[in-house]
Amino acid sequence: PPDQSPPDPSKKTLVILGTGWGSVSLLKKLDTENYNVIVVSPRNYFLFTPLLPSCTTGLIEHRSIMEPIRNILRHKKASVQFYEAEATKIDYEKRVVYISDDSEIKGDISHTEVPFDMLVIGVGAENATFGIPGVRENSCFLKEVGDAQNIRKRIMDCIETACFKDQTEEEVKRLLHMVVVGGGPTGVEFAGELQDFFNDDLKKWIPEIKDNFHVTLVEALPNVLPMFSKQLIEYTESTFKEEEISIRTKTMVKKVTDKYIQAEVTKPDGSKELETIPYGLLVWATGNAIRSVVRDLMSQIPAQAESRRGLAVNEYLVVNGTENVWAVGDCAIANYAPTAQVAGQEGAFLGRLFNIMAKTEALEKELEALSERQAQAKGDEDRNQIFDEIRERQKQLRRSKQIGPFQYSHQGSLAYIGKERAVADISWLSGNIASGGTMTYLFWRSAYLSMCFSTRNRVLVCVDWVKARLFGRDVSRE
Ligand code: FAD
Ligand code: NAD
Repeated sequence: PPDQSPPDPSKKTLVILGTGWGSVSLLKKLDTENYNVIVVSPRNYFLFTPLLPSCTTGLIEHRSIMEPIRNILRHKKASVQFYEAEATKIDYEKRVVYISDDSEIKGDISHTEVPFDMLVIGVGAENATFGIPGVRENSCFLKEVGDAQNIRKRIMDCIETACFKDQTEEEVKRLLHMVVVGGGPTGVEFAGELQDFFNDDLKKWIPEIKDNFHVTLVEALPNVLPMFSKQLIEYTESTFKEEEISIRTKTMVKKVTDKYIQAEVTKPDGSKELETIPYGLLVWATGNAIRSVVRDLMSQIPAQAESRRGLAVNEYLVVNGTENVWAVGDCAIANYAPTAQVAGQEGAFLGRLFNIMAKTEALEKELEALSERQAQAKGDEDRNQIFDEIRERQKQLRRSKQIGPFQYSHQGSLAYIGKERAVADISWLSGNIASGGTMTYLFWRSAYLSMCFSTRNRVLVCVDWVKARLFGRDVSRE
C-alpha cells in the first residue's frame, strides 16, 4: 500500500500535477518502480468528461463517471504518493512545487512544498470568461462534477419557482428560459441533453411548464460546432430546429446580470444592435483559459514570452525553455485542439517516454560498470565475455533510444445533439466519414462506453441509461 516513507534516494522524483485525462493516461502507462512518483491534484478522482453533460439532467449519476485515483494507484507495481492539494506555484529555478490543501477540513499543515527532479504539468484549463462583467457571479460552468450538480439543482429550482403560486407570467417566462452561451461541443451537447430532459420527462411530470420552457443557444460566430464539416453543422442546426431549441448565431454576449444577458447582435445587413435577453438558468461554455499557476510558470521562463494560450512544448512535450518539465493536455500548446483524445494520447506518450528514459539510464549504468570490469579483467576469456556483454547492451541502448516524437492520431470528432442523434466526423482508413443520426447515436453511446475508465464505470453508466428509460429522470431537487 502507498505509504509516507521517504523517497528512495537512488531514484529521481517525478511529480505529476492533475488527475485528468493527460495525467491519468500517463500514470496508466508508467512503470512506477523507476521513479519516486508523487501525484498532486485537488480532485482525488478521474472524471470522464464526455458524459458530464448527461449528469446535468440526471440521465447519468455523477459517481458513475468518476474513478477514484486511489483505485488507479493501488494497481501500480510500486507505490505512488498522492496529495489532495492544489499546486499554487511552481518555482522552476528551485525545482519546487508549492501545494495547498483547500478542502473543507484542514489539518495543522495545509501549505507545504514538494521538490521535484522531473515535473509533468497536467492541470487542464479554466473557464474562459473574457473578462465579461457578471459572468463569474451569475452563470454556471460545465467542467467539473460540482458544476453539473449545480446546473441540475438550478434547473429544478427555476421550474419550481416558476410554478410558485401567483407567479407573474413575465417572470414564469424568464425563469423557464434556459440560455446556453457558446456553440462549441460543450454548449451544443448540454442544450441537447436539456431539451431531451424536457421532452422525455419534465413535460409529463410538470405539464404546467409546457408552454414556456425554452432552450436558447447563443453563439458569437455565424454557426455552431465550427470544428465539424458544413454538412454536420447543417444537420445539427436542423435537428435543433425540430427540437425547438433556438440558435442565436452572430450574437456576442457583452454583459451578464442576475436576470438577463446583454448581447450584441449582428443583423443580416451588417449593422449591430444591443439586445437584452432574460434568463432563469445561464450556462456559460465559451472554451478554455490558462490557469494562474501555469501563467505564473510561463512568466519565469523567457522562452515562453511569446506563448499566449498555454505552455509551448516541443515535439517530446518538453516545456520550451526547460529540460525537466513536461506539459500535457489543455494546458499545453502543441498545435492540437484541447480535447480528451489529445490529452490521453499525450499522457500515454509520456508514460512510454519515461519508461524508456529509465531503461536507457539503467543500461548506461550497466555499460559503465561493464567497462570498469573489462579494464580490470585478467584473462582474455574473461575480457571477451565482457566485450560480448557490452556489445549486447549497446545494441539494446541504441534500440531504446529510438523513440520518435509525439504524433497525434485523430480518431474523429463525436458530439451528441439531442433527440437520440449524434454527429461524427471520423477519419477511418483513407476517407472521412461524416455522419449524423440515430445509428451515429448508437455508435456514440458504444464508443463512449468503451472509452470509460473501468468496467465498474461501464456497468454504472449502462444501469443509469436503463434506469432513466424505465423510470424517467429523477426530478427532485437536492
Ligand atoms: P483535465 O481533464 O481538465 O484535468 C485537469 C486536472 O488537473 C484535474 O484533475 C484538476 O483537478 C487538476 N488541477 C487543476 N488545477 C490544479 C492545480 N493548481 N494543481 C494541481 N492539479 C490541478 N474531449 C473529447 O475529446 N471528447 C469529448 O467528448 C469531450 N467532451 C467534453 C465535455 C465537457 C463537458 C468538457 C468540459 C470537456 C470535454 N472534452 C472532450 C474536453 C476534455 O475534457 C479536455 O480536453 C480534457 O479533460 C483535457 O485533459 P487534461 O488532462 O488537460 O485536463
Ligand atoms: P469551444 O472553444 O469549442 O467553443 C466556445 C464557443 O463560444 C466558440 O464557438 C465561441 O465563438 C463562443 N463564444 C465565445 N465568447 C462568446 C460570447 N461572448 N458570446 C457568445 N459566444 C461566444 O468551447 P467548448 O465547447 O467548451 O469546448 C472546449 C474544448 O473541449 C474544445 O476543444 C472541444 O473540442 C472540447 N470538447 C469536445 C467535445 C466532444 O468532442 N464531444 C465536447 C465538449 C468539449
